Amino acid sequence: MYHHVKKLMYTVKVGDPDPRFGNMLLEQFGGANGELAAAMQYSVQGLNTDDPGLKDMLMDIGTEELSHLEVIGTLARMHLKPMKKDRDAAEADPLIAICGGGGVNLYNSMGNAWTADYLKITGQPEVDLRSNIAAEARAKIVYERLIDFCDDPGSKDALQFLMTREITHMKVFMTALDSLGKKPLEIGKLKPTEGLVDQYFNDSTGEGDGAKDMTGPWNEGGDWERVDNPAFEPGKMKVDGD
Ligand code: MN
Ligand code: MN
Repeated sequence: MYHHVKKLMYTVKVGDPDPRFGNMLLEQFGGANGELAAAMQYSVQGLNTDDPGLKDMLMDIGTEELSHLEVIGTLARMHLKPMKKDRDAAEADPLIAICGGGGVNLYNSMGNAWTADYLKITGQPEVDLRSNIAAEARAKIVYERLIDFCDDPGSKDALQFLMTREITHMKVFMTALDSLGKKPLEIGKLKPTEGLVDQYFNDSTGEGDGAKDMTGPWNEGGDWERVDNPAFEPGKMKVDGD
């Protein structure tokens, strides 16, 4: 059950409206890493899970994201409002100015309509929690860039609040993932093929323009077995687990 409380989660103050910045803010309203996507992803995951603890947490955060949508929508609306009457302002986002009268709508900053294709929902807790951790990381960096491009102190304060909450959510999802007690590479039920799982395929050859084969902890040391040019020697691949 949802209930609307007639106040914002964070009070929004804007000094001088900046329609071009308002257009950028739409990325967090109707964009791929925005608040509606976050609210829908976590709430729908919450509907799908049978674990009462995860369900409660996902619905809590999904609901908070709806409150973020309200804050970012209010902030964007304040910056976009001059578009309604001012021709120069309208040029910052003709779609919003002409079709929406300077009001927010569920588009990203380039005018692409919001889509459920943004959502990552698999019904597998260790997979969905990782998607959520990545979603929060993307939201954090988008807020950081918006703050960098913002001159208005009141807008910066609201964005700082929203950015901080995304890190809080990241902390919740990471802790929840840890609480499942699964090893980092343990996904689902089936085990990967032994041997094959530890083979690093070096699928490039040649040197030129400063490019050469590189090594790092991602292909050297530990359990790694480096296999050069498997395309030419496919027998090196441990497909039978031997
Ligand atoms: Mn959020
Ligand atoms: Mn979040």
